[in-house]
Amino acid sequence: MAVHSFYLLPTGIITIDRSILISGIDIGTKVKSPVYAVLLMHDEGPILIDTGLNPDGLMDPEKAWGPRAKLIKPEMTEQDTIESRLKTLNIRTKDIKMVILTHMHWDHTGSLRYFNHCPIVVQKSEYRFAFQPDSFVSGQYMNNHFDFPLQYDLIEGDRVLLPGVSVVRTPGHSPGHQSVIIKLRSGKYHIITGDALSTFENMRLKIPGSNVWDAQLAAESIYRIEHLSLLLGADVFTSHEDVKWFDFKKIPDCYR
Ligand SMILES: [Zn+2]
Repeated sequence: MAVHSFYLLPTGIITIDRSILISGIDIGTKVKSPVYAVLLMHDEGPILIDTGLNPDGLMDPEKAWGPRAKLIKPEMTEQDTIESRLKTLNIRTKDIKMVILTHMHWDHTGSLRYFNHCPIVVQKSEYRFAFQPDSFVSGQYMNNHFDFPLQYDLIEGDRVLLPGVSVVRTPGHSPGHQSVIIKLRSGKYHIITGDALSTFENMRLKIPGSNVWDAQLAAESIYRIEHLSLLLGADVFTSHEDVKWFDFKKIPDCYR
């Protein structure tokens, strides 16, 4: 029982001020950042980490993303939907055995509604907060993305979900944020950070983004991920990487 390989699935691009990704850095500099999901090929079946941008935005950006449609200008093509990305590997959405959410922000829950047949693993603290967020971060939670009859599997704390797949709490960006540690059959570790690390600059400078719920916790989570990556010899995959994204392998290439 192991993870054989994993794929990065691009789901679109957002345009964002770099100082939102790294607080106080490059204020006024707009960057194009990727939004992606991750597909794990596990003996138990395919597992998805996050679900990318809402495909409704292809037809009606305002309906899908509200004010963000103009503010962050999400860009998607037909190929960027999760359904299309999976289809290139002959996988249907119904084949997915489990979805793991790093957190419940709009750009990670866009296709969540297609996975009502399988468990959606999320920290209980994140789930609770998503439905009643603090006002200063409420725009990041969009009910039209996650308020469906889904099989939420609410967990509390670090957990081995399956052999080779575990989650660790990395709060700060949001209250119940978690990152995913993957151990491939080859023995190699990888960490899918979610928005605990948007870019490698967050880790180098030890500065979280400016759109965080709790900056002190977010900084501590950066140290936690760096510690785990050094301890395990893990490669790190940051969520909205504007620079090293070009070095990451994307579907149809994979890590094994
Ligand atoms: Zn986020």
